[in-house]
Amino acid sequence: YLQSMPKSVTIKLREKHIGGACQLFFRSSPLKIVRGIAQFMFDETGDRYLDCINNVAHVGHCHPHVVEAGRNQMSLISTNNRYLHDELVILAERLVKTLPKPLSVCFLVNSGSEANDLALRLARIHTKNKDVITLDHAYHGHLTSMIDVSPYKFNLPGGPEKPDWVHVAPVPDVYRGKYTYPDDSQSVELLGQLYADEVGVMCRKSKKEKGGVCAFIAESLQSCGGQIIPPDGYLKKVYEYVREADGVCIADEVQVGFGRVGTHMWAFETQDVIPDIVTMGKPMGNGHPVAAVITTPEIAKSFCDTGVEYFNTYGGNPVSCAIANAVLDIIEEEKLMERAHRVGNHLLNRCEELKHKHSLIGDVRGKGLFVGVELVTDRKTRTPATAEAKHIVNRMREEKILISRDGPDSNVLKFKPPMVFSSQDADRLVDTLDRVLDELKGNTRTVTNLKLEVRVTPIDDVNAEAVLKTNMTQLLKSS
Ligand code: PMP
Repeated sequence: YLQSMPKSVTIKLREKHIGGACQLFFRSSPLKIVRGIAQFMFDETGDRYLDCINNVAHVGHCHPHVVEAGRNQMSLISTNNRYLHDELVILAERLVKTLPKPLSVCFLVNSGSEANDLALRLARIHTKNKDVITLDHAYHGHLTSMIDVSPYKFNLPGGPEKPDWVHVAPVPDVYRGKYTYPDDSQSVELLGQLYADEVGVMCRKSKKEKGGVCAFIAESLQSCGGQIIPPDGYLKKVYEYVREADGVCIADEVQVGFGRVGTHMWAFETQDVIPDIVTMGKPMGNGHPVAAVITTPEIAKSFCDTGVEYFNTYGGNPVSCAIANAVLDIIEEEKLMERAHRVGNHLLNRCEELKHKHSLIGDVRGKGLFVGVELVTDRKTRTPATAEAKHIVNRMREEKILISRDGPDSNVLKFKPPMVFSSQDADRLVDTLDRVLDELKGNTRTVTNLKLEVRVTPIDDVNAEAVLKTNMTQLLKSS
């Protein structure tokens, strides 16, 4: 399985021909991944990595049933959805069965961005309103229309300007958000109300000044903003406000759907709400590009009544549908939702234990196999430990464990592994993290009385980090 091209040649070709904006993980020393099985990935030297971040490889990398379904359908026919095909209607029926009424009409698309773009289009046509309410730090996709509603992107220094019809509500982060626990309230429910009221104010203003809201779009648990679990009652109240202002509620389940939260198939269910439009993607094809929008007959009718055909060349092609059906088979047969619940609880408990040992851990939160560990330099001020988080992600990679970090200050360690992740994997992850955190304590003690000035000359070498490390080690030894 080893790829024949030396890694250095792959890097050179990539630098030459792939847009620089497409960033690599571990930029100074990127990984070349050539194969995956279940929760593991292998590099070109055969080294095996425990994958704790790939929520796309939902049922495990290269699951044989998914591969087989794709291969079979590929050898029969792949065409567009203007022809009848059983895989398409079976998939639609199966997805609808997982959702509450009246969500029953599907549109098959190819990516999460496309799904959210279509959701917004449906909302516009149905409500005839323009104002969209989104959450701070949210990301909903790479299309121009989605960057418009993604503060995660438009708030970056080089990002585009926020359109005036987009309104950004505070993210319901009870640890480091606008209202925190226990500073602003002793009751989490009340925090839900405080955060929801922020959306309520926007809704009333929009209704008064513009005639109404088009949509409220949010991940039911915000992943891009740093693994945020909203307080109980938050979405319920928000949805009420949005509907009072004639808007529709879009639940972006692109990252958090398909049973990841362990207790439910869809993350919005943990907030006891029913959206008007649900978008899904990533895990749906286990790596194959397939996504969907599911809405109510009423909203679908408004779209149909425009008389404009919706045609999507690849959306709903039989190969994608066969693959998505295979993914659903595995979620059911291997009881992956129950597994996410069991293993997720174990992982959360173990992370909580770590919190008692390491003061760098300020908060541990999650649902199922969607877990965040927020690092702070000071628990009282909750100051983000960004540099430490970066160091930890890199050290874990050296230990052959892949994790990532996110949040506005990039200080939240993110775990969202394939759902075949086991309790033993969780133990290995936490034990290694424990060791790395111990090291960090040791390092801090060693360097507190040292003041070093390091001048770094940029060099065109992928091993720059290793070279720097060796030089630093020698410098420390000699000083
Ligand atoms: N919504 C959310 C919450 C996402 O995380 C992403 C991708 N990271 C998208 C939408 C866009 O999906 P895609 O990259 O498949 O277009």
